[in-house]
Amino acid sequence: MTTITGSSVVDLRYPTSKQLDGSDAMNPDPDYSAAYLQLFTSDTDLTGHGFAFAIGRGNDIQAAAIEALAGRLIGRDVDGMCDDPAAVNRELLWDSQLRWFGPDKGIMHMAIGTIMTAVWDLRSRREQRPLWASLLALSPAEVVALVDWTYIGDYLDPGEARELLEQRLPDRASRVASLEAEGIAAYTTTPGWLGYDDDKLVRLCTEAVADGFATIKLKVGADSEEDRRRLALAREAVGPDINIAVDANQFWSVPDAILAIENLQEFDLRWVEEPTHPDDMVGHAEIARAVNPVPIATGEMLASPVMAKQLLQLDAISVLQIDATRMAGVHDLLATMLMAAHAGVDVIPHAGGVGLCEAVQHYAYFHAVALAPEPSRMEIEYVDHLHDQLRVPVRVDNGRYVLPSEPGAGTAFTPETVTEFSFPEGTEWATP
Ligand SMILES: [Mg+2]
Repeated sequence: MTTITGSSVVDLRYPTSKQLDGSDAMNPDPDYSAAYLQLFTSDTDLTGHGFAFAIGRGNDIQAAAIEALAGRLIGRDVDGMCDDPAAVNRELLWDSQLRWFGPDKGIMHMAIGTIMTAVWDLRSRREQRPLWASLLALSPAEVVALVDWTYIGDYLDPGEARELLEQRLPDRASRVASLEAEGIAAYTTTPGWLGYDDDKLVRLCTEAVADGFATIKLKVGADSEEDRRRLALAREAVGPDINIAVDANQFWSVPDAILAIENLQEFDLRWVEEPTHPDDMVGHAEIARAVNPVPIATGEMLASPVMAKQLLQLDAISVLQIDATRMAGVHDLLATMLMAAHAGVDVIPHAGGVGLCEAVQHYAYFHAVALAPEPSRMEIEYVDHLHDQLRVPVRVDNGRYVLPSEPGAGTAFTPETVTEFSFPEGTEWATP
């Protein structure tokens, strides 16, 4: 019997604020961070990896929450957990004392997500498959059984969810073949950070087109006239055939969002992301109605499937941007993708940061094969930072994500990054 013998949780922080990488209207100086969990087993060749993403201060609190949960798993049978991950998920989500901290949101929820990611990483490694293939190996009934339907079954019945999955079964082989041949389109946020000057913006826009990207995204929000000026520069640099999306990172009130989006309408926006507070479902619906047909997008800060349900019930979004570490991992994400497919909205995952591209691509591939009404409409965010800190860095070729074949969930960091970027004792931080 293989058992969990121990765990390690480290607070990894990268000094990205020095270059203003990742700067936007709400987050002027992020230090990309990961609270990184390794679950060790009695099989020395088998370790499970998971992480939660953050942007600096407080990552130690996230790490402590993960550590508190990981301690519970010591001594457990790996087979038992991997054969029935839904039981582990339910045990953690429905812990009556821990639930006080959410329910289903915040640091404890993200800690549960980190644990569940590590459990699925173990399962995929044992199956010698990447996570996306482990998920596709499940029957529709097995996928449906992984989801906790308590709070979302009123919107999507488990029977309907199973039918959605069954409907796509005949297309699966051709969809996998197409992913193997051409992956999924990447869109790039690299040119668009607010802290970059005009020359850097134009240069990076031009490079993005040369690199094969069909969509670029600019951060907006702090200054409406400045946003118009930067969008005009970007449009001139990329030409008329490239999609431009914008991201306000929650900066606006609901009325301000409506005015600001109307002010940017002439730029033919592919979507407007996080126009206001991520919990304001009714506000998103009001904005979407007022600026129709400009597509409204959100999701990177959606704490739970319940919130996704409400956005969809209210017709508040046309793009749902799932994030690999915000919700409680695989089970929450399956629930969310099923509801998005039911609603017919585009799933365009959030990534960037550190490790998020590597992790979220697996869910995107599952969605593209098993659920998406039109997989060709899918894109995944891509930012070219810090990929070499992961053991299996994401591969993007000519503007498209390349399907990974390595076993696991894409969540393993390199041993070197742990030595260098652990906070505050790593060599990057300890050396004056
Ligand atoms: Mg965003």
